[in-house]
Amino acid sequence: MIDEHKRILLVIPHEDDGEGGCGGSVARWALNGADITFLLCTNGDKGTSELEMTSKRLANIRQKEQLAAARVLGVKQVSFMGYPDGELEDEIWAREYIVREIRKHKPSLVMCIDPFRSKRHAHRDHRISGLLALDAVFTYSWSETYFPDQIQRDGLEAHRVSEVYLWSSENPDMCVDIGDTMELKAEALAAHASQMKEPDKILQRTIDRARAVGKDFGVSHAESFRRVIVHKTLSHWAEY
Ligand SMILES: [Zn+2]
Repeated sequence: MIDEHKRILLVIPHEDDGEGGCGGSVARWALNGADITFLLCTNGDKGTSELEMTSKRLANIRQKEQLAAARVLGVKQVSFMGYPDGELEDEIWAREYIVREIRKHKPSLVMCIDPFRSKRHAHRDHRISGLLALDAVFTYSWSETYFPDQIQRDGLEAHRVSEVYLWSSENPDMCVDIGDTMELKAEALAAHASQMKEPDKILQRTIDRARAVGKDFGVSHAESFRRVIVHKTLSHWAEY
């Protein structure tokens, strides 16, 4: 299934989280012809230790950096939900926004951060973005009874996503070989210059991490995920 998905949507809490979690996989699939959309939940306006930086200026900078990183990876669409950093809520408005993007882009694969962790605490926006994405996939986006205005008034169709890959998971059960796209991942991460106090160290850490994950799965560099099957397709039936 790994390279089968031709339409993919990522639900990302902050600018740079997508590149760090799955930039190599995204680049691999984009090179393979996939149509990929990034959906950014917050504007990342707290990601600084510079006292003279304003939230508005930082949000602006981060949006530009995100667009540049997406270009490096070959991502075709980037959508900004616009919550302030740290203020994402598990609420109907956010769910409706994600469902609209799913119904608009019709991905077979959705990716998000694993919201269920017990050993290492995660940023609130990370947890909530994962919960929102999973709930949007099942059942809101495929049931016409949720957000019927999107269908009756705006002409969208209910849509079934077939699976979700969760990154930052404590229980990964699959990996994507990113040996050929490790450099693109590093280049995309480097585009987030406002978050790179010591770029060389951060990039080296990213490469080392991909190498360690790769070792676990028997390839040179990899990103790992927990896979959740939502709607079984013919390939799933063949696999099990
Ligand atoms: Zn983050």
